[in-house]
Amino acid sequence: VTRPLRTQVAIIGAGPAGLVLSHLLAARGIDCVVLEDRSREYVEHRVRAGVLEHPTVELLRAHGLADRLDREALVHRGVQIALDGRRHRIDFEDLTGRNITVYGQQEVVKDLIAARLSAGEPIVFDVSDVRVEGFAGDEPFVRYRNGEGSVTLRCDVIAGCDGFHGVSRPSLPPGALHIHDREYPFAWLGILARAAPTTDELIYSNSERGFALYSMRSPEITRLYLQVDPDEDINDWSDDRIWGELTRRLPTSEGFTLLDGPILEKAVTPMRSFVATPMRCGRLALAGDAAHIVPPTGAKGMNLAIADVTVLAAAIDALERTGDESLLADYSDTCLQRVWRVQHFSWWMTSMLHRFNDHDDFQHQLQRSELRWVLHSRAASTALAENYVGLPFGRIYPEEAR
Ligand SMILES: Cc1cc2nc3c(=O)[nH]c(=O)nc-3n(C[C@H](O)[C@H](O)[C@H](O)COP(=O)(O)OP(=O)(O)OC[C@H]3O[C@@H](n4cnc5c(N)ncnc54)[C@H](O)[C@@H]3O)c2cc1C
Repeated sequence: VTRPLRTQVAIIGAGPAGLVLSHLLAARGIDCVVLEDRSREYVEHRVRAGVLEHPTVELLRAHGLADRLDREALVHRGVQIALDGRRHRIDFEDLTGRNITVYGQQEVVKDLIAARLSAGEPIVFDVSDVRVEGFAGDEPFVRYRNGEGSVTLRCDVIAGCDGFHGVSRPSLPPGALHIHDREYPFAWLGILARAAPTTDELIYSNSERGFALYSMRSPEITRLYLQVDPDEDINDWSDDRIWGELTRRLPTSEGFTLLDGPILEKAVTPMRSFVATPMRCGRLALAGDAAHIVPPTGAKGMNLAIADVTVLAAAIDALERTGDESLLADYSDTCLQRVWRVQHFSWWMTSMLHRFNDHDDFQHQLQRSELRWVLHSRAASTALAENYVGLPFGRIYPEEAR
């Protein structure tokens, strides 16, 4: 037996994109149902990103979703970049008047879930066999199964917020999407450790042994990364080997102390840049990782996902309020201005900080020259800072004619 249900917006995926969208729609009085194929427990404990741009924090605050964040998160006024073991500081507040906030993605997700459920709004966890259909016309629907059987959920718009491996993007007809893709010749080995941070800012380190990143999630937890080969086996990395390599790559000879501690999680994550265009097909809009992936060096993935859904919420609002589809028609173009800016920034940070082919000395010298320019020129540091703290949501070049 298939149960028929109806809502205004069916949101696939309870990650940052889907959950923020559900709140933006609720604030406009628009009904939606969030469908998630994992359990609540799973999504609330999935360790991923942790840097929130200034506009992301402002948005969460404006919707009353930042109470715990404001109590517990760490505000960072700058970032440090080490070259040849020497640390340089990029002062975000001095250069842009803005800052960033460190707060784990899973904490954002917990807060968004709690706020939605306590308002009595639905999130259906543990769904399976999700299928998005009918979006070429104006009566799209989603079929799925949950503990009680099969459901057909009719709606006006489907928001595909189901991440890179979700079902929405592959449901588009063949040829509907153009894929822009780049892989990198390395991956990140990331650890989460119970060790108190010893600086109050992230340290990006370009070292002869490869890139390393020192970051933190809370006053007790550090999050550290090492550049490794893309096919690196995590089992070859004992805790001692990880701490030893971090000590060699981070600027530990220069007054910075690396405290070690029990490693709570470790994993190797591949690095890629990916954009699927357009980000909409009829009444199915893709948002966040479902449409694009950035390498994590610029700390942008979660922020970009949230930026997309601010555009989508306004487009859905216009459709629901007045039947005006023009913002939905512009959704992809509007998002892509910012998506490509962030793609470039993430690629740029990645290119400037990682160790590439050892035999290409010319490229290596160019990389060092560029990084030294960024560290020593106020104009170049400002370019980095402006992108890092986050460009405005929506059209970033509104003066360009449509
Ligand atoms: C392993 C990993 C590590 C990362 N680490 C970092 C980092 O260190 N720093 C950084 O800046 N960024 C990092 N990122 C990027 C950042 O976490 C993502 O950009 C961000 O999660 C995007 O949010 P989203 O809501 O678009 O997608 P997601 O967070 O992926 O959410 C998608 C949701 O959809 C659900 N879903 C999938 N398929 C279905 C389906 N068929 N039906 C229903 N639900 C479905 C998923 O379970 C998930 O909850 C990482 C990403 C990954 C994958």
